[in-house]
Amino acid sequence: MVLRRIVVGSLQVNCFILADDKTREAVVIDPGNDAPEILRVIREKGLRVKYIVNTHAHFDHVGANEAIKDATGAELLLHEDDAAVLATVSNQSRSFGMHPVSSPAPDRLLKHGDIITAGEVSLKVLHTPGHTPGGISLLEEGLVFTGDSLFAGSIGRTDFPGGDLMTLIRSIKANLMILPDNTKVFAGHGPASTIGDERKENPFLNKDSGFA
Ligand SMILES: [Zn+2]
Ligand SMILES: [Zn+2]
Repeated sequence: MVLRRIVVGSLQVNCFILADDKTREAVVIDPGNDAPEILRVIREKGLRVKYIVNTHAHFDHVGANEAIKDATGAELLLHEDDAAVLATVSNQSRSFGMHPVSSPAPDRLLKHGDIITAGEVSLKVLHTPGHTPGGISLLEEGLVFTGDSLFAGSIGRTDFPGGDLMTLIRSIKANLMILPDNTKVFAGHGPASTIGDERKENPFLNKDSGFA
């Protein structure tokens, strides 16, 4: 399996490209910005992008949806509970003082338990709301992409519209902390981690957090 991380945009979102070695079919997770760089990697590796998946519909994660979709013909996938959030992206970016962002509407809406496949790549959709109503994590064998739900040593902000702290902690505990300790965590911003390290070190999730 091919796994590439590209850090995009001024908010430094981790865009991930996952592809099957044989078929070259690929999934692009959170193309938030810097479409030329993402497309350069796609061309260099000879990938055929089948799906663009947004872990959630904040502007910093969706800004290059349109350019990647236009260039590759990929389908855009988003959890059904974030469709309304996606409709607000231009306002979101303006409130951060950034250039207005736009995105095409999703081609298909995701639900908890859906499987996204591209060749041997198989991503299971885990609904992890709380940062946004339709935030998802994406589980492959031994690794999980957590968007802005779970970070190394932290969790996502819950002060944006639709955010809720207890919902986020509950959804992380129910869907992510049940994974084996050696599961690699690839978050939407910042460095990688493991479920075991977060179980021990994350101040929002360990047994001293007060949220247990
Ligand atoms: Zn976010
Ligand atoms: Zn973000």
